[in-house]
Amino acid sequence: MAKKQFKAESKRLMDLMINSIYTHKEIFLREIISNASDAVDKLAYKALTDDKVAVKRKDFQIVITPDKQERTLTVSDNGIGMTREELETNLGTIAKSGSFQFKQELGDDKAASKVDVIGQFGVGFYSAFMVADHVTVTTRAYGSDEAWMWESSGADGYTVTPCDKQSVGTDIVMHIKANADEENYDQYLETYKLQELIKKYSDYIRYPIRMEVEDYRMKEKPADAGEDYKPEWETVREWQTINSMVPIWQRQKSKVKKEDYDSFYKEKFADWQEPLSVIHTSGEGAVEYKALLYIPGQAPYDFYTREYEKGLQLYSSGVMIMDKCADLLPEHFRFVRGVVDSQDFSLNISREMLQHTRQLKVIAGNLEKKIKSELVKLQKDDREKYEKFWDAFGMQIKVGMVSDYGIHKELLKDLLLFWSSKEGKNTTLAAYKDRMPEDQPYYYYACGESVDKIDRLPQVERIKDKGYEILYLTQDVDEFVMKALDELDGKKIKSVSDEDALPRTEEEEKQAQAKAEAGKAVVDFVKQALGDKVKDVRISRILKSGAVCMTADGQMSLEMEKYLRKVEGKNDIRAERVLELNPDAEAFAALRRAVDEDKELAADYAQLLYGQALLLADLPLEEPAQFAALVCKLMR
Ligand code: ADP
Repeated sequence: MAKKQFKAESKRLMDLMINSIYTHKEIFLREIISNASDAVDKLAYKALTDDKVAVKRKDFQIVITPDKQERTLTVSDNGIGMTREELETNLGTIAKSGSFQFKQELGDDKAASKVDVIGQFGVGFYSAFMVADHVTVTTRAYGSDEAWMWESSGADGYTVTPCDKQSVGTDIVMHIKANADEENYDQYLETYKLQELIKKYSDYIRYPIRMEVEDYRMKEKPADAGEDYKPEWETVREWQTINSMVPIWQRQKSKVKKEDYDSFYKEKFADWQEPLSVIHTSGEGAVEYKALLYIPGQAPYDFYTREYEKGLQLYSSGVMIMDKCADLLPEHFRFVRGVVDSQDFSLNISREMLQHTRQLKVIAGNLEKKIKSELVKLQKDDREKYEKFWDAFGMQIKVGMVSDYGIHKELLKDLLLFWSSKEGKNTTLAAYKDRMPEDQPYYYYACGESVDKIDRLPQVERIKDKGYEILYLTQDVDEFVMKALDELDGKKIKSVSDEDALPRTEEEEKQAQAKAEAGKAVVDFVKQALGDKVKDVRISRILKSGAVCMTADGQMSLEMEKYLRKVEGKNDIRAERVLELNPDAEAFAALRRAVDEDKELAADYAQLLYGQALLLADLPLEEPAQFAALVCKLMR
């Protein structure tokens, strides 16, 4: 019978497995057992609503059988099984989840050098080929009266033929490779080794993993044994359940090691990095539940796309009833992964019903608080880790600040980090508050493309000279966050470009007005020269040594204009631009002279200053060629 070829990606992955020099080949067993457990999960779930499922809940199991004569290791389950089509799509093409990510991680040419990644997360069924030179899968799907056999010796293809199998489920028979210098394959046929591997990797699997083991024990003392009876030993073979079956989240916190938490996470959520934090918590009273939550160390590649699905795995009485229960997590914490187990949900509840249950809301509310306090703790105790969290998910927190009309801001504001002009690194708002001199009237922020550029903004100078700290905002969403916050403990948050950013004494106010009065003719001239390029020109109250700057009136700031231009491609939207002139700058004196003596020159100066203000604000020059020509003209 003709062999069928694997799909191209599958073949590559398969090649990699067969030729793997990976030192932890033993993880193949974990992968095969985990597939078996998933298959049992699926049938157990069906059994809840379907009386025709013959297997009783207590009889679900996974059986491991080594055979030294035949050199085979068999993993059998009485789970859902596969139809012929499923065999073809599941085992003939690359597996969707784990393996696919794995492939992405490897990239095209670096496969060999990054082979270590294999052990880090689920690589699935193909890992059997790390230890086996031939694999046979016999399977019968629930509800089908046919059974099928899939066979393959590796990359050259596979066959699918009809076969005999009485019960529903799947047997995976791995013909173990001959011993080699680089690897002891024989050990995968040894009961003690298999026991060890099951304990190590699959202890929390919720179904019994059973194996016939040899036990060495003392013979019973015969009733008529005399004084000089010596105990005798015998070897017995008996079936044992190897795994403890208690899921990790059901165990006592003090009994679980960090490594256990971490490896559970890596395996379950297909991440090769350790999580930043683990939250193991439970609820008692009105709603009882256990939860095990993780803060990942990095954003999944699809995190900021529509493809990413948030949610926690939901179990009820040990049966997984939903893979990603979205309602358990608020949007702003959508990066959290984990498991919730509660007997308070009926097993056959529908998704629609689930959304409306009170229990779900109670649990979600509790978990939200837990996650927040865990993050605050991380921020205090391990700043380095927290910064890593912030790099990965800070954006999500900021978006949470401004979404839903700001109703989450009280919860989230403690988590915010912004660059501090004083510290030269990220700060929390609370730390900013603690450092604040008593006379400082407001919190300050300034927006721009980068910390360096903001630091050189003309309007930043006078605030810094007062000794006041400024938060440098470099992300588009930042200014919206500040607008949503508006104030902290009764103190306003202001932009350095705000005219009232520094309160003026009566005397200062008088002076400012006098300056505005004195500069009026110049301002009027410039305004006329610039026409509708700007909404207004005014004598600045926010500049110290710089000659000009651009600010905006109204609700839309220059940063928002830039954001809309960049993200939404809206080129016609403009902030109400205001050109501010510093009456104390030398440039202003030159401008004034020109207005009096040489109107053409003054008009050129007006254009020049306008162009400068645009450049300083990181806004594009509307006519760069004309600007360049103007500079050359003035140099002559
Ligand atoms: P993954 O488990 O990441 O999806 P695998 O390569 O391990 O990838 O498996 C591919 C698919 O084959 C599984 O998703 C499942 O549908 C099917 N499968 C594997 N083993 C079994 C089994 N023992 N019983 C039923 N289906 C199985």
